[in-house]
Amino acid sequence: MPGAEDVDYYFRKAARVIDLSARVERMLLTPFREVKVDVSITLDSGELGTFIGYRVQHDDSRGPMKGGLRYHPTVNMDEAQGLAALMTWKTAVVDLPYGGAKGGIAVDPALLTPREQERLTRRFVQQIHDIIGPQRDIPAPDVNTNAQVMAWIMDEYSRMHGFSPAVVTGKPVELFGSKGREEATGRGVVLALEEYLKDAGQGTVRGKTFAVQGFGNVGSWTCRFLHERGGRLVAVSDTRGGVYAPEGIDVAALLEHDRAARTVSGFAAGEPISNEALLQLDVDVLVPAALGGVITEANAVDVRATIVLEAANAPTTPRADEILQTRGVTVLPDIWVNAGGVTVSYFEWAQNIQQFSWEEERITAELGRHMREAYATLARVVRERRVSFRTAAFIVAIERVARATALRGV
Ligand code: NAD
Repeated sequence: MPGAEDVDYYFRKAARVIDLSARVERMLLTPFREVKVDVSITLDSGELGTFIGYRVQHDDSRGPMKGGLRYHPTVNMDEAQGLAALMTWKTAVVDLPYGGAKGGIAVDPALLTPREQERLTRRFVQQIHDIIGPQRDIPAPDVNTNAQVMAWIMDEYSRMHGFSPAVVTGKPVELFGSKGREEATGRGVVLALEEYLKDAGQGTVRGKTFAVQGFGNVGSWTCRFLHERGGRLVAVSDTRGGVYAPEGIDVAALLEHDRAARTVSGFAAGEPISNEALLQLDVDVLVPAALGGVITEANAVDVRATIVLEAANAPTTPRADEILQTRGVTVLPDIWVNAGGVTVSYFEWAQNIQQFSWEEERITAELGRHMREAYATLARVVRERRVSFRTAAFIVAIERVARATALRGV
């Protein structure tokens, strides 16, 4: 599992290129606040369920802190620290008026009933309500959390602080959520790839082959958009295994299968494939869209894709990143590629504050503009500094955050 050290490695690599002072480096690496809370609840059986919740607020120099909530057994302080820092750099790359945060609960929600999940979520809000808020820290969905969880958060927070839809994003559209939020991350992932392909003179998505690990919110929407644009999806996986069909997977049929079986595994129009084998397929683009730390020192030499499109957060370890770079594989980094989610979260927050809802066309157009502008800046830094896209993204982010920090004063 990737942690703060991995993110800080990428930070330091970029900091060296721009000669960041040791003082500013120390300020930017030190998290603003870290909270660990007991979220014990009474289970439906009457027994006590003991869980631990985390929220790390990394930096607020550019605005209220923003970042997802993850419900997963591997959630811990180190992972939250790393992901919170990534959010600071991500919001800066796409130039949103936010800082970074992340958190979650160490739990497997599949083992809880919906009523238990609701109690757990409300208990978590009771424990952290005084450090979150529309102008402080705004959570959003991440692994195993969704619009329903966000609705519970909004409701519980509003009971304590008055009506506050802007405390959380990724809410259901009927409850002050934004049109286009659910598909935003996947849409942004595909937009990012299109920008790169165009600039690199590599054409479009049409006819290219893809392997996607993860078929949750990000993975499934990425697959839909790739398929719509004529990409050939040859493999998809989730926790229970994967499916491989060299002639291409019919995404609508796969979605149908996934809805019924709650996994892509067992999809009839393809052969089974393991998550490890999927990473080694001979495809044009490999898309990690599940958990972090999946492309490692051990398997990076076996990656045969020419592009790694980081839809997940922190899917590539620093050693693997070096190996891919040496082997000439282009890695398009998480802090830009998956920033579509937080960008539309920003639009949702802005709509909540304005109490005025935007049409979907406006959201899609503004998302496209943010992703394209970010790419133009990154591509310029890649050329001027002769660095990878990841280092360029960190350079852009660090310069923006460092400038805001300096202007605000310590
Ligand atoms: P999700 O819970 O909706 O889906 C996660 C998917 O990954 C599921 O299909 C699950 O089966 C699969 N998965 C989990 N563990 C796996 C494993 N060990 N091997 C293979 N597959 C596995 O979560 P999501 O919101 O789609 O998030 C996926 C990734 O994208 C995470 O890294 C998350 O931090 C990142 N991300 C999400 C958003 C967002 O808007 N939801 C935004 C930016 C980044």
